[in-house]
Amino acid sequence: MNTEQLLAYDRNYLWHPYTSTVDPLPVYPVASARGVIITLADGRELVDGMSSWWAAIHGYNHPVLNEAAHRQLEQMSHIMFGGLTHEPAVSLATKLIPLLPPGLDKLFYADSGSVAVEVAMKMAIQYWQLRGKKEKRAFAAIRSGYHGDTWHAMSVCDPVTGMHGLFAGSLPVQYFLPQPAVRFCDTWNEQDTLPLERLLEEEGDKIAALILEPVVQGAGGMYFYHPQYLRKARELCTRHGVLLIFDEIATGFGRTGKLFAAGHAGIAPDIMCIGKVLTGGYLTLSATITTTPIADTICSGEARCFMHGPTFMGNPLACAIAAASVELLLQSGWEHKVKAIEKQLQTELAPAATYPHVQEVRVLGAIGVIEMKEPVDMAVIQQLFVAEGIWIRPFGKLVYLMPPYVITQAELSTLTTGMLRVLNKIHR
Ligand SMILES: *Cc1c(COP(=O)(O)O)cnc(C)c1O
Repeated sequence: MNTEQLLAYDRNYLWHPYTSTVDPLPVYPVASARGVIITLADGRELVDGMSSWWAAIHGYNHPVLNEAAHRQLEQMSHIMFGGLTHEPAVSLATKLIPLLPPGLDKLFYADSGSVAVEVAMKMAIQYWQLRGKKEKRAFAAIRSGYHGDTWHAMSVCDPVTGMHGLFAGSLPVQYFLPQPAVRFCDTWNEQDTLPLERLLEEEGDKIAALILEPVVQGAGGMYFYHPQYLRKARELCTRHGVLLIFDEIATGFGRTGKLFAAGHAGIAPDIMCIGKVLTGGYLTLSATITTTPIADTICSGEARCFMHGPTFMGNPLACAIAAASVELLLQSGWEHKVKAIEKQLQTELAPAATYPHVQEVRVLGAIGVIEMKEPVDMAVIQQLFVAEGIWIRPFGKLVYLMPPYVITQAELSTLTTGMLRVLNKIHR
């Protein structure tokens, strides 16, 4: 099949994420990817600014991860986890658990981020049932949050901007708190958690858990808020008997400058979800981790178990790659690298703040965001980025960079200068 045929078939038969089948935006055929370079089928090379939706922190085609994959393939790529266990699943857990906030030591492997969120929500419901509080079955969430595309994960995404507004009438109704107003770098103001305090006081007996993305709201708005919000949320949840779920699927593994964003607040949630970066962007794998007391309560009832068990649970190939990826991250001096990326993004994106069509420039860790005043024209801007030799995929008003941590200073400059040049162009 030549590229033209491939594109024609793709257009006629395949869905792409959040894309029309009637009038799809163009897609670019990729031949390969290595390090931070994506090579298109026509030979053009793009510097990757997206880490494939924030996952490929070590870059593509990494020799260490490839080697881990090859080694595991020779043993088995999959085996059922019901009644069986294996070295990759155990080895990954031994690496992960010591890195997590204290107390989180019962780990459930799931297939994707969204499923990890479903699992966390199911855990919370089962927990309260067994504590004799069946009326605690709703969830509290924060506006502009994003927690995935499956059913109950959708119900805790922002009801308006969360991409799932169409389903509003069918989804369970949850409690929504205003987006935290105090920014990451601003001075904390106690007012910010008053709505949470009021909600838990008034409706706490109906709420199983509060779910949020700590410090960085990702797909719901690329917004950075004050870690004190989390400390206060921890205190209020404990006081009112509401579980606290941290969705660290986007923030985990160093992206915000701490290994996990919970580290900015120095607190631990009751349940935590990780995904995306877990396999270094190689395969889909996620995990939901809770405490022993919560796990033991869930398993104390008549059912004597947690009611979930996907076919590909604990997939050995994914676990083996994930174990290698975590090891690689810890040995990589990631903290220094993320700090360097942060500094460079701050310096090099700053000029955009004066552009008339730019609302705001903000940077945290290895995340650089330019918020426009109006949504960008995706078809136009995507083409301009590709012409600049960079891969950036904006959404709505948000044009942002989340590069692989292995990016060099020169490559990052290629991204930032190309990005600013394109933003200048679309203005004219
Ligand atoms: C991406 C994401 C999810 C969903 O993960 P999938 O693997 O796409 O299902 C959930 N929560 C957050 C915070 C995310 O960024």
